[in-house]
Amino acid sequence: MRFVSTRNSALTATAAEAIMKGLAPDGGLYIPDSIPHFSLAEIENMKELPYPELAARVILPFLPGFTEEELLEYCRKAYSSFGSPLVAPIHTLDNDTHVLELFHGPTCAFKDFALQLLPYLMSASVKKCGSSHTVAILVATSGDTGKAALEGFADVPGTKICVFYPDGGVSDIQRLQMVTQKGDNVMVTAVKGNFDDAQSGVKAIFSDSALSKRLLEHNVVLSSANSINWGRLAPQIVYYYSAYLQLLNKNAIKPGEAVDFCVPTGNFGNILAGYFAKLSGLPVGKLICASNKNDVLTDFIRTGTYDRNRPFHLTMSPSMDILISSNLERMLSLLSDPETVSHLMEQLKNSGCYTVSEDMLSKLKEAGFIGYCSNEETTSNTIRQIFDDYDYAADTHTAVGLSALMQHREANADKNVSVVLSTASPFKFAGSMLKCLGQKVSANGFEQLDSLSRYIAQVPPSALADLRNAEISFPGVIGRNEMADFVENWLAE
Ligand SMILES: *Cc1c(COP(=O)(O)O)cnc(C)c1O
Repeated sequence: MRFVSTRNSALTATAAEAIMKGLAPDGGLYIPDSIPHFSLAEIENMKELPYPELAARVILPFLPGFTEEELLEYCRKAYSSFGSPLVAPIHTLDNDTHVLELFHGPTCAFKDFALQLLPYLMSASVKKCGSSHTVAILVATSGDTGKAALEGFADVPGTKICVFYPDGGVSDIQRLQMVTQKGDNVMVTAVKGNFDDAQSGVKAIFSDSALSKRLLEHNVVLSSANSINWGRLAPQIVYYYSAYLQLLNKNAIKPGEAVDFCVPTGNFGNILAGYFAKLSGLPVGKLICASNKNDVLTDFIRTGTYDRNRPFHLTMSPSMDILISSNLERMLSLLSDPETVSHLMEQLKNSGCYTVSEDMLSKLKEAGFIGYCSNEETTSNTIRQIFDDYDYAADTHTAVGLSALMQHREANADKNVSVVLSTASPFKFAGSMLKCLGQKVSANGFEQLDSLSRYIAQVPPSALADLRNAEISFPGVIGRNEMADFVENWLAE
């Protein structure tokens, strides 16, 4: 297996190169040119494996050039920081409805699955590519990615990490999570402006070739940890297998029985990993793509037209407030060919809109994709209803998924065994949770944690509660035009 650019199959890379570079040189995304396959017998044989061993087994064929021993070592390290022995435990609501809890990692959101492992994959890839440079990761974040990347890369030899977040643009708890980060190789700063300003600043730094040259004199190369990196997608395939195996172990399904997965979606990374699980042999039925009021994907899956020319809504599921789902490009490539993908991406760049052929749309539906969206009121009602009916507190993103599943079941009168992916701890969005549950909301993040804890009778994750006493290491704010100088001063130390 090799990796090729979604826009040009002549641009090939090894797995290590794809991870180190992140993006293909023509701006395309790296995608494997063939897909590994596990037989049902092989999958059943994974039933007893602890999560890190399962992860190494599943990821191995998706990362040619890595050995099972090294992956096992990395996976053991990466997933030892999770607060649940199952790492991704299933919480069963009723016989046919299960929640896969992906928030037991150190930062309480599902991005830990990829970002706890990526640093090991990155360091190993740099070595495999024969490079001795320090890799400096730059991240612009709207909240969850920044902290997950900091926690993953902190004190990893051969790497440095710098996170930019919009000043005033993240929740109190999310800010504290970042500015109290420990580690000798980490840097965090607020940027005056919104998320797009921070993101544009990072992109400008990446395309500044004079700066890259100067950094190289300090033995530093820049890289990114955002979800277009194959090293972030591969680790996410694993928990679909884990969910299926847990259901087998609970006798909730028979071997080979198809399970529907419902995924709260933003950048299309998580749900695409589910499709790779399906392509590699896991019995997956429908892949239900759940969106909030930013429903560009719902429209696309229903009509074949992707149109980002629409109002952008700030919602209480901020990690899904996205109008350009970058990983969708990989899906388009699985449904067509590089010429078609290049053409569609050119249209997206120029007019913000494209329409795929009838043939591609029907292939997308045959692949099992189906889309639903929820506005704020529906999401809020869902949180209330799930809490009342099942005594379960689903976070604001997870609730968008649960709402999609309920809409799907109503529309199709079916009740297949279904798994909803829970992407964040309810405590991470305590203020919104309290509001949805009809409770008073204090302005202070820690009082919100306490109130939610009392109301749902659960202890908040210590990673969040302990922030109360954590020392602030990064109080700084910079202007958006100062970002490049800031990076250069830090890296030239
Ligand atoms: C990132 C994120 C999502 C969206 O995941 P994608 O892979 O971008 O589709 C959903 N929920 C939470 C809590 C997230 O942090």
